[in-house]
Amino acid sequence: MPTYSATAYIRLSYASDRTVESDSVANQRKLIEDFISRNPDIQLVSEKVDDGYSGIIFDRPAFKEMMQDVTDGKINCVIVKDLSRLGREYIETGRYLRRIFPTYGVRFIAINDGIDTAHESSSDDLTVSVKNIINEAYCRDISIKTRSALDVKRKNGDFVGAFTVYGYLKSEDNKNQLVPDPYASAVVKDIFRMRLDGASASTIAAELNRLCIPSPLAHKRNHGLPHSSKGYTDCKDCKWSATTIIRILQDETYTGTLVQGRYGTPHFKIKETEQLPASEWVRVPNAHEAIIAPQDFDLVQRLRGLDTRTAPKKETVYLFSGILVCGCCGGRMTRKTIRASGKDYYYYYCPTGKKNGCQHPTMLKESALTQCVWESLKAHIENVASLNEMLSDVDQEFYRQAAAQKFTSEIAENERQLEQALEFKNKLYENLICGNVTKQEYASYKKRYSDMAEQLRASIAEMKAKLQKELDGEHGEWMNRFLQFQGADELSRKAVVQLIQYIQVKGKNSLRIKFNFDDEYREALETLAAAEHRKAG
Ligand SMILES: [Zn+2]
Repeated sequence: MPTYSATAYIRLSYASDRTVESDSVANQRKLIEDFISRNPDIQLVSEKVDDGYSGIIFDRPAFKEMMQDVTDGKINCVIVKDLSRLGREYIETGRYLRRIFPTYGVRFIAINDGIDTAHESSSDDLTVSVKNIINEAYCRDISIKTRSALDVKRKNGDFVGAFTVYGYLKSEDNKNQLVPDPYASAVVKDIFRMRLDGASASTIAAELNRLCIPSPLAHKRNHGLPHSSKGYTDCKDCKWSATTIIRILQDETYTGTLVQGRYGTPHFKIKETEQLPASEWVRVPNAHEAIIAPQDFDLVQRLRGLDTRTAPKKETVYLFSGILVCGCCGGRMTRKTIRASGKDYYYYYCPTGKKNGCQHPTMLKESALTQCVWESLKAHIENVASLNEMLSDVDQEFYRQAAAQKFTSEIAENERQLEQALEFKNKLYENLICGNVTKQEYASYKKRYSDMAEQLRASIAEMKAKLQKELDGEHGEWMNRFLQFQGADELSRKAVVQLIQYIQVKGKNSLRIKFNFDDEYREALETLAAAEHRKAG
C-alpha cells in the first residue's frame, strides 16, 4: 500500500529552459513517472505545471495550488526533476526545504539531484545548500547577460529611449544622439533662471502659462514629436504644472549628461520594474550639448536641499541654514534661541558636541556672524564688479550672439503660434456658415482665439524687449549673480544661497567663506591677464 500521496511539480521558465530539451514538460513528466513506477510506496495524485514562470519568484499559480494541497493535507509528497524546478533562489527554496515541508510532514524528492528527504543524511543537507547557491548564481548570471546588451549602448552614450526629454530632439543624422530643440531648450533655460532668481516651481508654472508657452506635452503634440501618453504631469488643459517644473529642474540631462537605465529590475530576484537608486544609473557626461551649465544645475539642486532640510514646516528659512559647517568635526551647525532678561538672542552651534567627538565646538552669535559675512561678501562683490568692468572690452561678441539666438528662436515660435491662432479665428466664421459649429461655440471659440492672440502678442513684445536688453547688456552670466546684490542694504537668504557655497567656522574669530563661481572667478582673472598680455605684446 502506498504511504505517500504525491504531486509531480513541473516548471518551465520563460526562455532559458526552452532551449534545453531535457527540461521540456514532457521530459520532466516522464522522469517523475519513471521514478514513481520504481517506488511503490508513492502514489501520484496530481500534477501541477507552471509554464513560463521564473524559478526566482515563488508567486506561481500551480505552485500555490500545490501548497494549498499540502496545507489541506491532500498530499504529503512533492516530486521534481531537479531542485531548480522548485526554485532557483537560495533563501526561499531553503525555507521550503527546511521549514515548510518538514512542518507539514512532506517528503521532498529532487530526482536528478539525488535528494529525498525520507532518506536524508547530514551530507545530503549540505548538497542541498550548495546546489541552491549554485542555482542562485546561475540566475544572477542570466540576469546580468540580458541586461548587459542595453548597458553597453548606454555606456557608449547612445540614447536608447523612445522619447526624448523636453528640450531635446533626436538628431536627424543619428537617432542615438540628442540635440537641443531650439525653442524648448530656451524655455528650459528660462525655467532654471527663474528658479535661481528665487521663484518657486508654481510661480514659474504660472509665469509660463501667462506667456502662453506650450507645456511639454502640448509642444510635442504641436510639432508631431513622439510622446508617451504617460509620464507627463502637465495640467489637463496642457498647461504647465509645478510638478512638471520640478521634474525639469531635477533632470541632469540638461547639463549634457546622458542618464539612462533609471528604471529596471533593481535585483535579479525582483520581477517588477521600478526606479533604480541613482547610484545605479548609467551616466555619460558630455554625451550631448548642454542646455544648462553644470554649476547652475548644482545650484538649483542645492536650493532644494537647503530649503527643505532646514525648515520642513515653517515658511521662513534661517539665513545660514545648511551653509554653516563646524570647522572641527564638519557637522552642520544649528540655530538656537537663547532668552536672556526678556530679550531673544540667536546663536549657531555645533550639534555634535564634545561627547560625540567634536573637540572644539564653537558657539557663534548670529548678529556678529551676519555682519562679518556681509562685509566679506560685499568686498567680493566689489572685486567681481571691477573685474566685470575690466573684462567689458574682451570678447563680447560671442556672448551677444548666443543671447540673440535664444530670443530670436523664442520670438519666431510665438509668431508662428500667433499666425495659427489668427488663421483658426478667420476660419471660424466659415465654419459657422457651413453649420460645423453652433452660434454658441462660435462665440466661445472666437473669444478663446482672440485671448490667445492677445497673450501671444504681449509675450512677443516682452521677448523682443528682453532681446534688446541682452544685446545691450554685459556678458558673463555668473557675474550678474554677484552684481545683482551690489548696493543691497543687508544680507539676504537669497544672496547667501546663490553666492556662498559654505562657511567653515574655525573659531569665534575665524571663518572661512567659500564663494560660489570660484572657478569662473579664477578663469576671468586669467582671461584678463591674457588680454593684458596681448595688449602689451
Ligand atoms: Zn563640531
